[in-house]
Amino acid sequence: MTDSAPVWIKDPLGILAEGAERGIVIREGRVAEVVPSGAEPVTPGVSVFDAGRHVVLPGLINTHHHFFQTLTRASPAALDRTLFPWLQALYPIWARLTPEALDAAATVAMAELLLSGCTTTSDHHYLFPAGLEFAIDTAIAAAQRLGIRVVLTRGSMNLSQRDGGLPPDRVVQDEDAILADSERLIARYHDAADGAMVQVALAPCSPFSVTTSLMQATAALAKRTGVRLHTHLAETTDEEAFCLATFGCRPLDYLERCGWLSDRTWLAHGVHLDAREITRLASTGTCVTHCPCSNQILASGTCRVCDMEQAGLQVGLGVDGSASNNASNLMQEVRSAFLLQRSRYGVEKVSHTDALRWATQGSAACLGRPELGHIAVGMQADLALFAIDELRFSGALDPLAAVVLCGAHHADRVMVAGRWVVEDGAIPGLDMAALVRRHTAAARTLHAG
Ligand code: ZN
Repeated sequence: MTDSAPVWIKDPLGILAEGAERGIVIREGRVAEVVPSGAEPVTPGVSVFDAGRHVVLPGLINTHHHFFQTLTRASPAALDRTLFPWLQALYPIWARLTPEALDAAATVAMAELLLSGCTTTSDHHYLFPAGLEFAIDTAIAAAQRLGIRVVLTRGSMNLSQRDGGLPPDRVVQDEDAILADSERLIARYHDAADGAMVQVALAPCSPFSVTTSLMQATAALAKRTGVRLHTHLAETTDEEAFCLATFGCRPLDYLERCGWLSDRTWLAHGVHLDAREITRLASTGTCVTHCPCSNQILASGTCRVCDMEQAGLQVGLGVDGSASNNASNLMQEVRSAFLLQRSRYGVEKVSHTDALRWATQGSAACLGRPELGHIAVGMQADLALFAIDELRFSGALDPLAAVVLCGAHHADRVMVAGRWVVEDGAIPGLDMAALVRRHTAAARTLHAG
């Protein structure tokens, strides 16, 4: 659905686009025109949106998340732990997830993302306890209600403690059921077209929760159906030790052995990769999602983003699950990435525009979506507008730098495919107070057991 009349987003205070000082014209869900300094739109019949107090960014793109984890934010059982004990504390709580709780969790996650300027999100759902077989369908329905663009992954776990994996038996499925449901979801929902609102990808969870057989079969299915592949990789030294002990090789070697390295694959984290591994990944076109908040909260390590980009590897951003982050705010993730990477590489190597690029063009590359992530004629009209007339920006002179340096975190307006989905800082038609009540009750029930 798109607004019928062309809209001129006029005279923004700042805009992340070339030659668009006087704004852009949106028509039929795409950017129809960029309007340079001193010019007027040539598109006839434009209505005007005055962007005189706004900074206009390409809609931010989130490439790693676990929506269900909004139900276990700041969960007492999981505080102050590294990844493996953190997971072991949370698996039994997550095993009680219901369709109703997941609907609340997915709606909260995507609403928070939209309000942070995110227009496209991925999700990695890998929990399918009995009764939750239609988890991805539930998340897609929630996305369609909110109007956000999604690339939802069908996650999986089939290696439980009984077989030497990390998760308990009751949260894993067998390989045949996983592959059959993956095929069902691709056939039912995956839209390969330019500008698609819903895409499906496949995402076995991690080397310590999935068998080699399922890793290989999933790669083959993705290749046959033309969908993308996603998983966690090289997140912690515990994972590295697990791979060395179990497979006799490092995590990236294992992934390569499973037939996974290709330009249809994007990996979450990539923290513990050495220089040669980064070069190998780049040569295959595999992309990496940097998740700075999660990596800092779990003290997993620091992704070598500048080394990756220098090697030709595309890097996107992800908020990761709201149990590790514990937020779902992509604009805050941009600031976190900026701070973390600048502290690692120095002021000459990392600027605010680098961090914005990771969340837009880099993330678009992770998801294989060249029509997203930048503002130019013909691109999808996905936009995030931040009003910078509030207290935290007062006195700021460079508008684009201000949204990162002063900590913008709440978009005033968000457009997806030419349609406003956030207006005046709110999502039209969404009763936020009722959603928070419903979600909080679901989180309490989940923890009560
Ligand atoms: Zn994750």
